[in-house]
Amino acid sequence: MELKQALQQLDLLQRKQIAYGHAMGLISYDGNTVAPKGSAANRAETLGILSGEIYMLSTSEETIALLDELHARREELDLKSRRIVEVMHKEIENTRKIPMDEYIAYQKLCVEAEDIWRKAKDANDYPLFMPYLKDLIEYTRRIAHYTHPDLPVYDALLDQYEKGLTREKCDQFFDTLRRELVPLIHKVAQAKQVDDSFLTGVFPLDKQRQLSDYVMQVMGIDRNHCGIGETEHPFTTGFTKYDVRITTHYYEKNFASSLYSVIHEGGHALYDLHPADDLAYTNIGGGVSMSIHESQSRFYENIIGRSRAFVSLIAPKLRELFPEINDRTDDELYKAFNKAQPSLIRTESDELHYCMHIMVRYELEQKLMDGTLTVEALPQEWNRLYKEYLGVDVPSDREGVLQDTHWAGGMFGYFPSYALGSAYGAQMLSVMQETVDVQSVIESGDLTPINCWLEEHIWKYGGLYEPGTLLETALGRPFDPMYFVQYLKQKFTEIYQL
Ligand SMILES: [Zn+2]
Repeated sequence: MELKQALQQLDLLQRKQIAYGHAMGLISYDGNTVAPKGSAANRAETLGILSGEIYMLSTSEETIALLDELHARREELDLKSRRIVEVMHKEIENTRKIPMDEYIAYQKLCVEAEDIWRKAKDANDYPLFMPYLKDLIEYTRRIAHYTHPDLPVYDALLDQYEKGLTREKCDQFFDTLRRELVPLIHKVAQAKQVDDSFLTGVFPLDKQRQLSDYVMQVMGIDRNHCGIGETEHPFTTGFTKYDVRITTHYYEKNFASSLYSVIHEGGHALYDLHPADDLAYTNIGGGVSMSIHESQSRFYENIIGRSRAFVSLIAPKLRELFPEINDRTDDELYKAFNKAQPSLIRTESDELHYCMHIMVRYELEQKLMDGTLTVEALPQEWNRLYKEYLGVDVPSDREGVLQDTHWAGGMFGYFPSYALGSAYGAQMLSVMQETVDVQSVIESGDLTPINCWLEEHIWKYGGLYEPGTLLETALGRPFDPMYFVQYLKQKFTEIYQL
């Protein structure tokens, strides 16, 4: 086949895959937001048929022959086409390494396990989830052996979410955080505590919705291509760069929860909205990896959103919407939004303690995978580590081992992305400040220079490069967690007058 013709076929294949993904994604999004309750079975039926179609399309003999040919001739391709082919070829190869019946059984198990996990969490019934967790671990191990026969299981899992990430790199990273942050956490615990009592009250939902629209506008999010919905757990889904959705959850008693969820998801959305136009409708048209994605969302949520300048910028709007906080100064608001205290729930954690939550999961996942920790003993070990790292007693499995959905969805090796992303963001700030006066930009209320920097160094590339290459190019030097440590030390030493 002529190369040009093969590339045209590849383009058509990707457009079809993206169209199926768009349809399935919208149906799922609808199910999570506004669909009537009784539509779940119909939705499952439709999604089942569409996922069968996409599976057949992606694994047909024709597709495999096309990809094999293009992969063999990849040296003749330009950078973009070569990357598209390499990514797709790798995915097909991985799928081919897993026996079909096991692959299907595993997919089914993940759907069932998520449903059971939800029930187990609601009923605080860990034993209900236990047999599913056991099966998930077993399958995850087997699949990792099929796809990465030369790697230890946990390294294979890390590599799956972040190409090139190894246990050795993670260990070094977490060791640094443990060594540097634990003493700081102890000092903060002994310091005079911050008053955030005024963040609890009655904050009408329509006002909170107005606040979401306002912060999305401040962040420079193009509402023509980005919608916002309401779900139990906030998330972002980008179908293509032209259709991105974020969600939030409003609590009448607490406006800060949704405010910072919207800023976090807004950070994901900005990344999804800004890959270069010629990457749209390709398999590299979205963010390259979860930790790079988290670097953008957590950069916006914490480094920008919880900065003194940003809080001062939005404070007049907060006072206008919520007269209860009228007499609070910018400084009081800033400190309240940054109150640091150990807690049970990862997603509600402050910036300083956040990585401790991740470390607990990182240690447990490795032990579950290498067989040194049983599923039966998991809750006890979870509670022990929460006491050791965060100093808190876990009162129930619902607030402990059952709190996150990740393991129920088969996502082992995913958690380190959150901590790494946070640390990448701090180093990005340092590099950005060499050319952008970040504080003055925030004070001006027009964040364009910050967004331009991120677009130029991260967003526009989509999945064109491996995450490690993208990061090092953006930073102009190797990743160093000490930027994150210094950032936290400076911030919390000042807030808590240590
Ligand atoms: Zn996120």
